[in-house]
Amino acid sequence: MELENKELCKKCGGHCCQMGGCEYFVSDFTDLSFKALDSILKEGRVCISAIPQFGIVNRKIICTPFLTLRARNIGRDVIDLLSFETQCASLTKDGCFYDFEHRPSGGKHLIPRPNKKCSIDYDPKEKMKEWMPYQNALRKLVKKYTGKSAEVKFKEDIIDFIYTFSTIPLDNISADRLSKLKELIEHLLLSNPDETKAAFARLKQENHKLIYTPEE
Ligand code: SF4
Ligand code: SF4
Repeated sequence: MELENKELCKKCGGHCCQMGGCEYFVSDFTDLSFKALDSILKEGRVCISAIPQFGIVNRKIICTPFLTLRARNIGRDVIDLLSFETQCASLTKDGCFYDFEHRPSGGKHLIPRPNKKCSIDYDPKEKMKEWMPYQNALRKLVKKYTGKSAEVKFKEDIIDFIYTFSTIPLDNISADRLSKLKELIEHLLLSNPDETKAAFARLKQENHKLIYTPEE
């Protein structure tokens, strides 16, 4: 199977990269000790990101951050647990800053297809599980760079995520992607009522339209 199709990607203009930096696989690195991870982050092109994990505890939906590495997004910091459809900082006018060999594996394994119907050839859950042994080191790095626990930083990013959803044009987002984002937003509204209220208060204060009214 052809993983790279420069012609198709050039014609497309990097739609996937405009939606956010691609994910790294554990196999992209030879050393993932705390020290090595810190050096990777200091290089400036990688961030710690979170995959929201939903569960039920005492009949309440909860959401916790599972930490991984991604290519960093424009205007976002080294700790960027949840950012909304923000362009990858490594997307240049000539395509990806990285040659194919050095590109994050999540990007290498997105198979280009016509009409942006690109698809991945791996199981994201399996790839995510490979990051499990590095959760402690990644959490310590969140603390080191932000002074906050991963949970606290994640909650702040959830507020920004809900706020941004209501304040940016959604026309560029494909129907499939938008439906997944809406599903994520709905789950976040249920799992994080306090952050939802904070985001809605900010939206109201700035006279933005509310996308959803939480139950009081
Ligand atoms: S992988 Fe798909 S979405 Fe990404 S640049 Fe290539 S054609 Fe466009
Ligand atoms: S690292 Fe390269 S392939 Fe991945 S999102 Fe950024 S520009 Fe696209």
